[in-house]
Amino acid sequence: RQGAAPTYLEGLNPEQRLAVETTEGPVLVLAGAGTGKTRVLTTRIAHILATGRAYPSQILAVTFTNKAAREMKARIEVLVGEAIEGMPWLGTFHSIGVKILRRHAELAGLKSSFTILDTDDQIRLLKQLIQAEGLDDKRWPARQLAQMIDGWKNKGLAPGDIPEGDARAFANGKGRALYLAYQERLKTLNAVDFGDLLLHPIRIFRENPDVLREYHTRFRYILVDEYQDTNTAQYMWLRLLAQNPARDSAVNICCVGDDDQSIYGWRGAEVDNILRFEKDFPGARVIRLERNYRSTAHILGAASHLIAHNEGRLGKTLFTDAVDPDDPKVKVHAAWDSEEEARAVGEEIEALQARGKALNDMAILVRASFQMREFEDRFVTLGLNYRVIGGPRFYERMEIRDALAYLRIVAQGADDLAFERIVNVPKRGLGEASVRQIHDVARMRGTSLLQAARDLVGTEEMKPKPRAALRNLVESIERWQGLLERTPHTELAEIILEESGYTEMWKNDRSAEAPGRLENLKELIRSMEEYESLRGFLEHVALVMDAERDEEVDAVSLMTLHSAKGLEFDTVFLPGWEEGLFPHQRALDEGGRAGLEEERRLAYVGLTRAKKNLHIWFTSNRRIHGLWQSTIPSRFLDELPEAHVEVAEESGAFGGYARSPGRPNPYGPSRFDEAGQAFSSPYATPGWQRARRNRNEATERNWGTRSGHQVERIGYGEADSGY
Ligand code: ATP
Ligand code: MG
Repeated sequence: RQGAAPTYLEGLNPEQRLAVETTEGPVLVLAGAGTGKTRVLTTRIAHILATGRAYPSQILAVTFTNKAAREMKARIEVLVGEAIEGMPWLGTFHSIGVKILRRHAELAGLKSSFTILDTDDQIRLLKQLIQAEGLDDKRWPARQLAQMIDGWKNKGLAPGDIPEGDARAFANGKGRALYLAYQERLKTLNAVDFGDLLLHPIRIFRENPDVLREYHTRFRYILVDEYQDTNTAQYMWLRLLAQNPARDSAVNICCVGDDDQSIYGWRGAEVDNILRFEKDFPGARVIRLERNYRSTAHILGAASHLIAHNEGRLGKTLFTDAVDPDDPKVKVHAAWDSEEEARAVGEEIEALQARGKALNDMAILVRASFQMREFEDRFVTLGLNYRVIGGPRFYERMEIRDALAYLRIVAQGADDLAFERIVNVPKRGLGEASVRQIHDVARMRGTSLLQAARDLVGTEEMKPKPRAALRNLVESIERWQGLLERTPHTELAEIILEESGYTEMWKNDRSAEAPGRLENLKELIRSMEEYESLRGFLEHVALVMDAERDEEVDAVSLMTLHSAKGLEFDTVFLPGWEEGLFPHQRALDEGGRAGLEEERRLAYVGLTRAKKNLHIWFTSNRRIHGLWQSTIPSRFLDELPEAHVEVAEESGAFGGYARSPGRPNPYGPSRFDEAGQAFSSPYATPGWQRARRNRNEATERNWGTRSGHQVERIGYGEADSGY
């Protein structure tokens, strides 16, 4: 291995090479998107292995997702040119945490066979504890407590460390006691939650210097990707492992990150961790990478210009050598509503596919998960393969499955699975015993569960309380079934979700996910409008659920912006760039200026995922809280530089939005005037009305695709151009 540089170093630029070869001492690689940070980490590991500096088992490497870890291992093998027997300590903070905790479970009062609770288990447990305290769990919901406990754990706080003021937030000061009770309950159950996977090891390291010493000896090299999104607990954990007092030379830790891509502040990530690196690790070398290898000059120009609107940045330079006059500019498109947006994106994808492009190289990145529904439906109609990354598909989400179960039991009373799913959701006092009773009757008489329930409420067999609850449910279902033929199905769905108490359940829920779930439920109702009957809609859903799901198949990727971190695609679609959706209203309301800046970083992450083609969409109308509203294009559109952006031709139909971003708004004062002056709507222009008429015609012809007979598509641009 002496002489010429090993092949894995070839092609690296001098700064990258420096970051790879500076194996000893603390190193921070601070650099913008697409500059090769992840590639540097990967090559660095290959270098450490190839030069015999350490065995695979002596390297601790942290990635943000398990998928990223798998990919990194595969890349390392390519670079080293041979299979690696294993990199046991390559993974996410959580997966490495589990491994450490299993080895020393007894030091945390657990058996090594401990189980890891998922969120549902966690909520159930907390609810019991809240009730045991004699508290009303409606007023003090378990989800809220779960969120507080997660927050504390992210900060590395055990029950004893909770600041006085903080603990007061839940049930007038019961928060800390409940947290303590929860931890004790977990211990008796021999269980942990996700936060514990870091907190327990931190405690073990602190209380058992010999154990910590073992890891100091073991881990010769520590590497961390996406360092800007580590939270306090992860940071504490890393520092404990990295600061080996026995070694006089500095620690061999290498972190890579980009402060402009810190997007998990809402989940406790501390971008400050990256800022204090030099202080925490004296003698640290900070290496900056400035050449972007991923994107065209237009994409990079757009992203850099946008992120420059943030204050409080470390500031970085980015450039690319890939300047090709033929590269397309970033395209901004307008659509009338989200249905049209999905249709137009679908067409764009089909056009690319017709030109021989792989679906695997395309991605749609949304701000909120409810936006996925329209795209998923569209892709199923078109027969385009797609995969959802980092979360369930729309119709597989918990709240959507619950709602669908209600609709199914009304439309097809014998649907036992549906009945079982909703019989006690929301909780109505029909516990396991009651459900078993219903099952027994159904089996004995060979009937459906609903029929068995109907029979049961007419007898004395059940205790009065559950019987009353069951009667109520059965009567409700019968009432809804009576409405089936007489009421428009969307209205009926709203009635069902209201009267069953299902919507109410999520409205009372103060957890972080609850607003998103309510949004998804509204989106579900909205999606039903496109079908003539409840039955037709349910058939469609069954088809979507059944759609191809092969990982190997060529497919468009669909995911939230948050899940897209670190990834890259030739073509990226960014739909829904409208005020209130992106930047998201909740982020603005709860986070103020900091919230806006985090949204802008999210936009930066989105833009920088694209290699060649970038399409941004906004719609002029969106249904928000069940009402159609005219929307305002995102302020982020105004922050894109004219030189790199082009407004797509077909958007010409959309009146005022045909203007190039960055130009003064021809319709009056800036929409984002601090004084809050009204935005003058261009909707009244004659061109706009014509566009709307044309669009209606286009829609009618497009219905053909819905019923599945004929795929006649009117070009989106064709129908709407010429204004
Ligand atoms: P992000 O901030 O989005 O995570 P990153 O800084 O981790 O980006 P990488 O994903 O490592 O960037 O690299 C971006 C792209 O540039 C990849 O396709 C990578 O293979 C390529 N790349 C990186 N360095 C070089 C190089 N020296 N020569 C050619 N291509 C490179
Ligand atoms: Mg990366």
